[in-house]
Amino acid sequence: MTVDTQTVEFKKNTVFVLFGASGDLAKKETFPALFGLFSEGVMDPSTKIFCYARSNLTVQQLRDNCAQYCRPSTTGNDKAKMDQFFKMVTYVQGNYDTDVGFIKLRGEIEAFEKERGVTEPHRIFYLAIPPPIFLTVASHLKNNVYAENGITRLIVEKPFGDDLETSRELQRGFKPLFKEEEIFKIDHFLGKDDLKRLLAVRFANPFLGATWNKEYIEQIEVWFKEPFGAEGRGGYFDPVGIIRDVMQNHLLQILTIATMEEPVAYEAEAIRDAKVQLLKCMETLGPKNVVATGQYTNSLDGKLPSYLDDDTVLDKNSKCLTFTEITMDIKNERWAGVPIVMRAGKSLDEDRVEIRMKYKKNAYGMFPGVTPNMFVIQFHPERKIYMNFNTTAPGFVDNLHQVPLDMTYSKKYANDWVPEAYERLIRDCFLGNRANYVRDDELDVSWAIFTPLLQYLEGPNAPAPEIYPYGSTGPKGILE
Ligand code: NDP
Repeated sequence: MTVDTQTVEFKKNTVFVLFGASGDLAKKETFPALFGLFSEGVMDPSTKIFCYARSNLTVQQLRDNCAQYCRPSTTGNDKAKMDQFFKMVTYVQGNYDTDVGFIKLRGEIEAFEKERGVTEPHRIFYLAIPPPIFLTVASHLKNNVYAENGITRLIVEKPFGDDLETSRELQRGFKPLFKEEEIFKIDHFLGKDDLKRLLAVRFANPFLGATWNKEYIEQIEVWFKEPFGAEGRGGYFDPVGIIRDVMQNHLLQILTIATMEEPVAYEAEAIRDAKVQLLKCMETLGPKNVVATGQYTNSLDGKLPSYLDDDTVLDKNSKCLTFTEITMDIKNERWAGVPIVMRAGKSLDEDRVEIRMKYKKNAYGMFPGVTPNMFVIQFHPERKIYMNFNTTAPGFVDNLHQVPLDMTYSKKYANDWVPEAYERLIRDCFLGNRANYVRDDELDVSWAIFTPLLQYLEGPNAPAPEIYPYGSTGPKGILE
């Protein structure tokens, strides 16, 4: 019998190598997620975590760095669990661009596997490093620490390219080194429990499915509103801008899952096929899709700094967009003609990430013109799904008003462990489940949709970004 190595579950004695272990992502997301999986009993204690970076660090320093970001487990006793977890961790210091450190790493991995009697190694490599060194590290690890007699999985962080061409270039760079099924490309929004639940909400509730189309839906809105600015991360943000940071990836993922046709099975490739099929029906974006672009300036009271005043924004003439609103079109039978609005901004008046399905007005009958229904999946600040329903208030007067049918996670699942995005994604990699990772063709088509828009907005004919105050609703005319 041949084994489908792609879906083999990594159970015992898995080797997990974290490249860039000294960095920001490792500290804030990767370690807390690994600890979360361990402390909730999901990751086997026989797992060995090798941390790799150039810095001279100890395991104790790694622990100190990430401790404040690790959340308490649902079963308590975290100090003991932390002690146990960090016994599974070891640190290897080495460079990314020479073999020396990788050979040392191989020695340590092989010694561990030999001691455990492993004959078919299961190794996961996580690239928590800046994109310019993805291929350098991938090639040294292929030459030195690839599991020749076992199974290798490689997790790659976003961004995967800056546009269609650079994304393809990266894909071409990985091709001779790893098979596509060995690469797990992260868009961490795909690990969010709420987005996963959207599949169940849409496809396990036929009454909702029946109205999820152009006959009933007036407009779709995807919002990303952040109440803070670049705040020390200008070095990362300035060359990227709001479109690459959240729209081409996270918001497009939300929109895709909310609008795709039902996958033929609850299975990774079927879900990814359905997403690609939907993306292929989306119109390429260009000048006609731009509603507003902006960059924030000081708050009205002068207390909060403008984007250009941030010390980490080096180009003091930067035209980097911190706000963009666009319209989109899906040209298929289900959605043709339904306006889609995607809006994302930093330093706005609130913290809110959500998708809103706005229903059409009730034109006839007993209650013509009543406020239309709205179905909302909110990711921030609360995880919740709700629908505004029309009803009458108690008492003698038939006042129609709207009441939310509300599933707020913190109320409904107050005592449950709701996995964080990175916990789910790393677990999926152990399980060999790619449903929540981005496939190459999906990446290709999403960049194809956004690249002409980026070329326009970064080209000589780009409109000047409107200036909006820190803490406001965005450029003039953007009201909510
Ligand atoms: P960092 O800038 O913190 O870099 C991670 C580590 O890589 C550093 O600690 C350093 O380790 C090494 N490094 C940094 N710059 C270079 C360089 N120029 N050449 C060689 N090595 C370098 O990155 P992050 O941790 O913030 O991000 C890692 C990856 O995760 C990136 O792809 C990023 O886009 C992605 N990401 C990050 C998020 C975040 O919140 N931080 C969110 C989403 C994605 P040392 O010198 O010790 O070897």
